[in-house]
Amino acid sequence: MAGGRLAADVTCMQCLYEDRLAVRARRVYEGAETDRYRCEKGHLFGLDWPTPASEPQWPPPADVLACLED
Ligand SMILES: [Zn+2]
Repeated sequence: MAGGRLAADVTCMQCLYEDRLAVRARRVYEGAETDRYRCEKGHLFGLDWPTPASEPQWPPPADVLACLED
């Protein structure tokens, strides 16, 4: 179940760090510990969830948005 219901949508980490954009990524595969996502620009990436998300991951939480303000 990895990230669980609240992690069905996340922020694309590649867009965030390379393009400084918060782009929505949808879960395409839910694993036991790692979920795979594809963003609206086509990036594929995996996220490890040691425990399921405790808050919705989209829209981006404040700590993610803070990454864009540096
Ligand atoms: Zn992306």
